[in-house]
Amino acid sequence: MAHLFKVDRVRLLCSCGVLKPITAIYFCRHCLKLRCGNCVSHEVDTLFCPNCLENMPSTEARLKKNRCANCFDCPSCCHTLSTRATSIQAPSPEDSNKTVARKVYYLACTSCRWTSRDVGLKDQTVATGGWSEQDNEHYKYLQSLLEHYRSVAQQEKLDRERKRFSHRKSAYLSLTDKYSLPSLLGRKSLTPLSPYAPKGDSSQSLDMTASEATAEVEGLPDEIFTEEVVLSSVTDMEQRMASPEWQPEKTSDLYPLHKHILVKRSLRCRHCEHNLSKPEYNPSSIKFKIQLGAFYHVPEVRMIRQVELKSEVETCVQVSLCNPTPHDMTLAFLPFVPEAYTAMQQKVEEPTDGGSLNTSSMVRVVDIPPEKTDLTPSADVALPQGQVILAARDDTAEYDDQDSISSYKDDPLVVAWRRANKVGINLLVTPKANVSRAKVGFVLRYDYTNTVATASESRTVTLNIPVMVDVGTVSE
Ligand SMILES: [Zn+2]
Ligand SMILES: [Zn+2]
Ligand SMILES: [Zn+2]
Ligand SMILES: [Zn+2]
Repeated sequence: MAHLFKVDRVRLLCSCGVLKPITAIYFCRHCLKLRCGNCVSHEVDTLFCPNCLENMPSTEARLKKNRCANCFDCPSCCHTLSTRATSIQAPSPEDSNKTVARKVYYLACTSCRWTSRDVGLKDQTVATGGWSEQDNEHYKYLQSLLEHYRSVAQQEKLDRERKRFSHRKSAYLSLTDKYSLPSLLGRKSLTPLSPYAPKGDSSQSLDMTASEATAEVEGLPDEIFTEEVVLSSVTDMEQRMASPEWQPEKTSDLYPLHKHILVKRSLRCRHCEHNLSKPEYNPSSIKFKIQLGAFYHVPEVRMIRQVELKSEVETCVQVSLCNPTPHDMTLAFLPFVPEAYTAMQQKVEEPTDGGSLNTSSMVRVVDIPPEKTDLTPSADVALPQGQVILAARDDTAEYDDQDSISSYKDDPLVVAWRRANKVGINLLVTPKANVSRAKVGFVLRYDYTNTVATASESRTVTLNIPVMVDVGTVSE
């Protein structure tokens, strides 16, 4: 049965032309359109460590290379390391002939049993911190590379600003801050200066000689052919790549990894710039201040049971519809015309005003042209005619023992059953010849009662949501 509940069997067509399950779609109450991760702005709200849940300002996070200073991951299996305490006998500070018990700490992995003692790291006398950092032999070279790319990025930015200035057009400023440009290059200070700035400020661009590729590779050491490989002493690719600066080849060279920090994001509609999702600031909270998930606003369509489908044979398929809102909905099913939506896929939506938002944490995701979603149905569907009323959500309904007598006059050929805010609808699906899976499409028309208090707009609007349902495999 599990496959029936797989969310991507039923997908909604987002306003940007991408098919997504309802759980991955947002509903903008201001534009009254579906929005997905592909067509919203992503902003970083909070940076935090997933282990100690400590907040970190973005500048600090950048300095620490987006890693927590106090928490470590196991270099062997990437599980979080925990601190273990033990006591050892150490010479007393007063009298070197006596010994006293002292508490020391080491790091251990509860998942694979790796410990910092395995690789000969000295135990620490304090519970947190104190672990020495590994020195990278290429540190100077990497630093000069960073310096170089910073000046390259600075030049690119200057050029872009200059272009902006000459065109006088509010171009879409993709400030992705590639190589962590210092903030003194902010827009305000740059714009009036940039057209007169000398081309290629040579003091900034260090002379770097580009590395050259060579066909000759160093030979393998002789031992590799003679000595037997002990697999447990060699690291695997994942372990090596977990610390890209060192890439240890032997398990004895593994070193605790600083834990990566995570971010909390908020999502913003690119058209009206209202928030679609905004988490609580506190990292330990899993709640949201704003969460306009489509499953709170759009009737949820689900497949009820798997049916046997045969090529070119009409089969009754049941879908259920659930009303998540506290208002009654009138539903209707309209035919799906793929051509009407393929045009939508080509058009990449322009933001209303690219430069108006001045937030440094803003990450405007570059428009990814939606992958060519195949919108052609591989089965015909006979949709129910007329309208169906979908009752409002009632949180007390589940405590009712007996089904309330339905007050709706339903056509038994269309409505298979009705329970609280859910209704079962019969669709007649006829798979086309020579197809392996039957996919049907329809447009769900429903009345949406907008709870945003705007006096100018009418409260109830009729919306059309294109839906594609993967009904299942077709046997011959
Ligand atoms: Zn919007
Ligand atoms: Zn979208
Ligand atoms: Zn931490
Ligand atoms: Zn481990």
